[in-house]
Amino acid sequence: MTATDPPDQHPASVSPATLAVTAGRPGYRADDPVTAPVVLTSTYVARDAQTGPLDRVYGRWDNPTWQALEDALAELEGGGRALGFASGMGAVSAVFDLVPVGGRIVLPRAAYSGTASLGAELTASGRLTAVEVEVADTDAVVAALDGADVLLVESPTNPMLEVADLPALAAAARAAGVLFAVDNTFATPLLQRPLELGADVVLHSATKYLGGHSDVLLGATVVAAESEELHARLHAYRTLRGAIPGPWEAWLVLRGIRTLALRVERAGANAAELARRLTNHPAVHRVRHPSLPTDPGHARATAQMRGYGAIIGLEVRGGGDAAERVASTVRLWVPATSLGGLESSLERRRRHASESSAVPESLLRLSVGIEDIEDLWRDLDAALRTSQR
Ligand SMILES: *Cc1c(COP(=O)(O)O)cnc(C)c1O
Repeated sequence: MTATDPPDQHPASVSPATLAVTAGRPGYRADDPVTAPVVLTSTYVARDAQTGPLDRVYGRWDNPTWQALEDALAELEGGGRALGFASGMGAVSAVFDLVPVGGRIVLPRAAYSGTASLGAELTASGRLTAVEVEVADTDAVVAALDGADVLLVESPTNPMLEVADLPALAAAARAAGVLFAVDNTFATPLLQRPLELGADVVLHSATKYLGGHSDVLLGATVVAAESEELHARLHAYRTLRGAIPGPWEAWLVLRGIRTLALRVERAGANAAELARRLTNHPAVHRVRHPSLPTDPGHARATAQMRGYGAIIGLEVRGGGDAAERVASTVRLWVPATSLGGLESSLERRRRHASESSAVPESLLRLSVGIEDIEDLWRDLDAALRTSQR
């Protein structure tokens, strides 16, 4: 073992929970830091540029802290190549850019509102055509693939928690010559690895679970190791549009990933228990969470995920006003947009004009955190009861 030849840090196949701790870590050279450093630089020394190609060149091309995060994300998603972006929407935009001019992209009817709005805007400007489908209806999605260039799905979807049959859609997309992209923000790579289910590219809003502390915005794409050309196109998009993350943001997300397994496990257990209790609550019209045996996505989620995630769609009795009363009465839950943080938060999605009309007015999206389950229940139960008065 020489000083430049660090040993393997972990055996080839370890569980995702272990990878969350080890992936992207510096090697084992004596006196090296144990954690990846934050490298703040706009450019790199080009002394030997004549003798061979340089990897980094300039701060918009590459950065060692991005690299550490990207190594970690690639390993977590099953050995592909990852790219960090300025935010989740930066990564979504890069995938939209894979659609040729005048081409077609297929999206979930109730997708993340930013993704849906981008599809509508690019359709209005004539850049491409965005077609909306019910992602849980496999036949409908397959029918929409005819003449399409890209299929972009979320599973589970935001905020309706619909579960798509990812292996079936991957097979159909491949047969139709359609690029298959999966937004894996809700599941995280700990619960679902879309590349292994046949996706061509995975997207993340790392702002959510990967960062996990509601203190940073960042996005990512991940492709299979052999998808070099696709990776190069996404990299070119990031470089030329300047859709790059900051090194500090990349470091925060890498730090967040270290505790991802603990957070996903605890938040998921809290969510499953809350979903179960809410089902029988007098103020509740309907609960959407794939852990519930009665949920339409339950069988699929059980087959293709290692857990059910920690987002609940809660339809409150009494419509939008009653749901707003819940949001304004909670004291422990944070009334705020976004999701995937340590803290439990909730939001009535239709308060945004940009939210899909497929989402019920009374739907609260609950992002369940890692607090004590009884504290969460007491606060939510009290707010739900108040909402009915
Ligand atoms: C939040 C979110 C995005 C957008 O990510 P930003 O980091 O806010 O730009 C994309 N997809 C899903 C599913 C999201 O929840």
